[in-house]
Amino acid sequence: MTKITIAKGDGIGPEIMDATLSILKAANVPLEYDEVEIGEKSYLKGNTSGVDEAAWSSIRTNKVFLKAPITTPQGGGYKSLNVTMRKTLGLYANVRPCRVYPPYVTTKHPEMDMVIVRENEEDLYGGIEHQQTDEVVQCLKLISRPGCEKIIRYAFEYAKSYNRKKVTCFTKDNIMKQTDGLFHKVFDEIAQEYPEIENEHWIIDIGSAKVADSPEVFDVVVMPNLYGDVVSDIAAQIAGSVGLAGSSNIGQECAMFEAIHGSAPDIGGQNKANPSGLINASVMMLSHLGEFESAEKIQNAWLKTIEEGTHTFDIYKEGISKKLVGTKEFAEAVVANLGQKPQELAPVSLKDAKPVKIKDYQKAAKKDKELVGVDVFVDWAGTNPDDLGAILKELNTDKIELIMITNRGVKVWPNGFEETFCTDHWRCRYSTANADVEIAKEEILKVLQNAIDKGVDVIKTENLYTFDGTRGFSLGQGQ
Ligand code: NAD
Repeated sequence: MTKITIAKGDGIGPEIMDATLSILKAANVPLEYDEVEIGEKSYLKGNTSGVDEAAWSSIRTNKVFLKAPITTPQGGGYKSLNVTMRKTLGLYANVRPCRVYPPYVTTKHPEMDMVIVRENEEDLYGGIEHQQTDEVVQCLKLISRPGCEKIIRYAFEYAKSYNRKKVTCFTKDNIMKQTDGLFHKVFDEIAQEYPEIENEHWIIDIGSAKVADSPEVFDVVVMPNLYGDVVSDIAAQIAGSVGLAGSSNIGQECAMFEAIHGSAPDIGGQNKANPSGLINASVMMLSHLGEFESAEKIQNAWLKTIEEGTHTFDIYKEGISKKLVGTKEFAEAVVANLGQKPQELAPVSLKDAKPVKIKDYQKAAKKDKELVGVDVFVDWAGTNPDDLGAILKELNTDKIELIMITNRGVKVWPNGFEETFCTDHWRCRYSTANADVEIAKEEILKVLQNAIDKGVDVIKTENLYTFDGTRGFSLGQGQ
């Protein structure tokens, strides 16, 4: 018997969890359940993350967590439980299959069957934001090599385990050459290790447009956190199955499975909710545990139930549906169909599936890192960049000099355009003429001391490095 942690959550949570557990029990899945309380009640008891010590301990011991949706109380500084779970437990991969069930669930894309693998821990979601001037705020976008390797390897291993043919990568590396550039580069590297799986890269904008128009051309799609957040919602929506989809959050140690919808307090306690999202999440959990036979049996019984027209109110449609049922009755219909396969919808076969495993991240040899300059960010209320250039040239040392000023990334000095709109946030680059000669850190201190002496308001600095001789920083637009 494998013990897993479950939480019944809030709103419709308890009824959809009971429905799901009744199916797992009827399918004789060898599981034991450790129930914990998370969500609204826990928040209101003073746990700002909605999770208490006992719940953490159970999840960390059992390592597999089936979670019903929870309600986040309005106001009051409560932290998102999902974000806390993902980050604290290192759940780096969010996996969301987006399948369609025509004509039983309406969709404009009857051939769609894609799986979105979203990076879950980094990118713009680190919450590292600062206001630096009256007019400008910033959010740090952090992309790491281990973060990229783990998620991209997971996508390829997922494709291999579930007999998928292609992995697509979405980034915006034509613009973000360092951050998205690293994601794309690591994708190209790792793709080489899987010659049997087709690979391709799309720029996120045209890629998302393609998802909205012809999602059937995609199979497994992997992308950084923010893009994955947006594209996975678009994909679930156009599949027509937001209420039916499950998702998993996978880490090296722990994994969490849930429906993608919320706690639907408007219909809570009325035996109306569709339990399919959590049922499908439990199928993903069984696959994660290597219980492929049970996963296949439950998934096919569920497909058969959808196909025979036994529907909850949210997908009930005159002419297609045959029987309007409540949450409990829907689960009973799935139980009655255990052992059967759908006739019209494609049945699921997991007989060759394997649990997805990725190898541990191996740190590469440290690169030769050379300091070649510094970007000094200045708060300056003036408008003429030539005036600022004249002031900032005074900060030159005998080794490094002002070579460029940009405003929101556009070069405005030397030789800027009058038309360029400028804010009060200036990036001022000090280096040797071509930023290719190593300098000592003391040169930066000299520039900063000169800034203090001349009354220049420095708000932050970024060191400019090369790694094994390759430039590790972007150029200004127009440089
Ligand atoms: P929601 O998904 O709960 O509800 C949106 C609409 O869809 C409602 O009309 C609801 O009745 C309907 N709906 C949702 N699930 C359904 C189901 N299984 N069967 C039939 N109808 C269903 O989104 P919301 O109203 O924005 O959020 C409600 C609460 O859920 C909020 O407190 C929110 O923070 C929380 N939430 C939790 C999670 C989670 O735990 N993973 C995710 C999203 C939202």
